Amino acid sequence: MERIGLFGGSFDPVHLGHLLVAQAAREELDLARLVFLPAAQSPFKPDRQPTPAPGRLRLLRLALAGKTWCDIDEQEIRRGGVSYTIDTVRDYALRFPQAPLFYLIGADHLPQLPKWRAAEELAGRVEFVVIPRPGQAEQPFPAPFRGRWLAGFPLGVSSSQIRARVKAGWPIDHLVPDRVAEAIRNYRLYL
Ligand code: ATP
Repeated sequence: MERIGLFGGSFDPVHLGHLLVAQAAREELDLARLVFLPAAQSPFKPDRQPTPAPGRLRLLRLALAGKTWCDIDEQEIRRGGVSYTIDTVRDYALRFPQAPLFYLIGADHLPQLPKWRAAEELAGRVEFVVIPRPGQAEQPFPAPFRGRWLAGFPLGVSSSQIRARVKAGWPIDHLVPDRVAEAIRNYRLYL
């Protein structure tokens, strides 16, 4: 049975933290594929207008080029509005009724899980997988959620940090793939 990982986020822009998570998740969970799910509008960032989807998608495609086990699913962007995880998870549960589904989240989201839309249903449909942040100790899952923590590879990089660096004129080499850094320069994003 194909084990499927789901990785939602703004990816504004995608960075090496995301890519290392992808690699760790594939190895530790023995995933057949990992699906990146760029959000139209994150429920956690109501005050921030994300970069228009075509720009974020271009960077994601560059970052994932050649990674045959990674997919980009644009369904949240097509739906538009606020992107709720349960809507996407229902779609996967319907299309892949036998497949174990794993949903990746940053450790910062863990305490808030019971407040996510349709929390009870969500907890029954997916196993949550927590991505460690540097220096963050493992915490238990709040009921009724079940899940596990990934071991690798904690990296203290965030999209907001990348955007701030570009705005300040600082280099983003080694924080995003070279092709992504070049595209950010060429499209004049985050200035
Ligand atoms: P921002 O800085 O704009 O809040 P972000 O870097 O957290 O963005 P998102 O696209 O919101 O990026 O992240 C998608 C998911 O990946 C979230 O669950 C987030 O917690 C997680 N994540 C992002 N960066 C890291 C990282 N360096 N290590 C572990 N998890 C991360």
